Amino acid sequence: MSQLEFAHVTKKYGDLEALSAFTLSVQKGELISIVGPSGCGKTTALRVAAGFEKFDAGRLIVNGQNVELVPPQKRNMGMVFQSYSLFPHLTVAENIGFGLTIRKMEKKKRASVVSDMLDLVQLVDVGHRFPHQLSGGQQQRVALARALAIEPTVLLLDEPLNALDAKVRIEVRDEIRSLQKRTGTTTLFVTHDQEEALTISDRVCVMSKGVIQQVGTPREVYDNPGTAFVATFIGETNSVVIGGKEVLVRPEHTRVVNDAEPDSYRGSVQSVSFAGPLKTVVVRMSVDESLVRATMTNTGGVDWTIGQEIGVIFDRLVPLK
Ligand code: ATP
Repeated sequence: MSQLEFAHVTKKYGDLEALSAFTLSVQKGELISIVGPSGCGKTTALRVAAGFEKFDAGRLIVNGQNVELVPPQKRNMGMVFQSYSLFPHLTVAENIGFGLTIRKMEKKKRASVVSDMLDLVQLVDVGHRFPHQLSGGQQQRVALARALAIEPTVLLLDEPLNALDAKVRIEVRDEIRSLQKRTGTTTLFVTHDQEEALTISDRVCVMSKGVIQQVGTPREVYDNPGTAFVATFIGETNSVVIGGKEVLVRPEHTRVVNDAEPDSYRGSVQSVSFAGPLKTVVVRMSVDESLVRATMTNTGGVDWTIGQEIGVIFDRLVPLK
């Protein structure tokens, strides 16, 4: 069952269409990431869902109800932004309980929900602290707990990991996914980071310039990208012109072999980088002078030398429609 549905939603800012006939249906309990380059309309989609932006055409359905005229505070959306946006003068527990106070939840019940939430995000010991007394990762977990405390119809996350450093970013990312699954919360997650989108999502919605390019499971958009844009935005690709036609191929499907092997294209080694279990060889292709990357399992033995003439085999081309 669809919990959040955008049906041909168009949002304009002057002449610019930030969303063009945006059509996406998020199923109950599903996590969909919207991913795309800066300015493609990701945040606009989220703001439209939250009710912060009006739109020019189309319909927005939440839980079977057309919510176009429903104000943000009546939509029961949980929101987490990239800047933690906690109330500095409220304690962690008060921040988490804020939405419940607004909803006039009785004090005892509220204390019990806040306690459950503190437990859920593993912050039981810091409920009395103020936001400035927490690390970035802890602050974002409080923001998440505050959003989940109201049992939102949909959880809207706008680049929630951006302000965190690399290690904490992965920890909080995994925690968001685990909490989302455990609570069965329908979630729309905005990110510009394709790896994050692939890792965290049930399905990924790839956007460019206000238009949805493809919606599919992480594996579908990676293995069978609908367009060259999706292929190059999601994961890495090599582009080679063979017989006058451009083909795209993933580095892991590109293999360097001794030049004597049949069915290989000729090239010369530009660089070899060794990263333990994997090594990446950059080759200049004779056919069109392009550079391609081959990522191969390191099985020991001798590496190729710079300038060496070798062969390149493409095991699988990216299928494009
Ligand atoms: P980023 O990853 O940089 O946050 P985004 O994909 O979230 O980008 P949006 O913020 O949705 O992109 O913006 C989509 C387009 O709409 C951009 O071209 C942006 O400049 C424009 N835009 C967004 N908000 C407004 C506004 N209030 N007034 C005018 N143009 C706007």
